[in-house]
Amino acid sequence: MRTLHVSDAAEGIETLFAEVTELAPSCRFRDCTHAHEPGCAVQAAVAEGSLDPERLTRWRKLLKENRDNTPVVSGPRNGKKR
Ligand SMILES: [Zn+2]
Repeated sequence: MRTLHVSDAAEGIETLFAEVTELAPSCRFRDCTHAHEPGCAVQAAVAEGSLDPERLTRWRKLLKENRDNTPVVSGPRNGKKR
């Protein structure tokens, strides 16, 4: 296996920034960017000092880079209703 899959990078980000990704499900919006959304659990953690804002900045940067490298996938992946 010599191919570097983009999903591997995403997984790496999730592992490196576990404290961010673990908070994400608690956000009010599922597609929360943790920037300025109301009801954001990550922003709340930063506000109360349990999360380093530096980490959040770096996480966002990595995620953006990862997204920029990801080809747009369009397909029937939204079959599940929640
Ligand atoms: Zn959020």
